[in-house]
Amino acid sequence: MEFTYDAYAKLIHAIQESYYTITDYHNYRNVKTPCILRHDIDYSIEKAMRFAELEKELGIKSTYFVLVSSDFYNVFSHDNKAKIQQLIEYGHEVGLHFDETVYDGCEAYEEKAVAFILKERDLLEQVCNRKVSVVSMHRPSKKILEKNLKIPGMINSYSKEFFQDFKYMSDSHMKWQEDVMIYIKEKQYSKMQILTHAFWYREKACGIKELLKSFLKEAEEERYRILEKNFTNLSSIL
Ligand SMILES: [Zn+2]
Repeated sequence: MEFTYDAYAKLIHAIQESYYTITDYHNYRNVKTPCILRHDIDYSIEKAMRFAELEKELGIKSTYFVLVSSDFYNVFSHDNKAKIQQLIEYGHEVGLHFDETVYDGCEAYEEKAVAFILKERDLLEQVCNRKVSVVSMHRPSKKILEKNLKIPGMINSYSKEFFQDFKYMSDSHMKWQEDVMIYIKEKQYSKMQILTHAFWYREKACGIKELLKSFLKEAEEERYRILEKNFTNLSSIL
């Protein structure tokens, strides 16, 4: 499968025409053969928005997991806050993407991990103006996965329930470990959880090197635009 918007639309059509029903973490028990679509926003809310619009056009809803502790974006900035709220207006759900490595003790102590998740959940709720009740882990350690965390008031998308009962497929590092299209068509599993990262997808297919280089270049342009807000005569200084 190519990493283009057209290819993703084809994947969605294939799911819609298959015996799977696209659903979410709250309602999957109400359908016979659920398929949960999930997106982790590791790098760019901008790219996630493009995906969210595409999914809106395709008439589907999915869950976008926002990394509150990201080095790449600030969820409290005016523009990002507006974008996250727009995601919700499109009908998508916003969940918390949690990076355990930001804090000490998460691996060793379950209660610490849970406490930090709940703190970040509260912050994200301020951004969303609504309840946040699903969490996914950013590059989780084996130890955290084995803990099978129970988080009060939240659904853990990495719990055994979603990893043992569901067939989990992901495009991590711009690479599908297995051919997702074949799994959709073969009906081998009765439940599917599909993780895609909007960041990998473009109008036209390109390799990971080209994609990352353009991300770096865009970052320079983005910084320039932000600087311009702080300097009345930026171009004359530079
Ligand atoms: Zn992640």
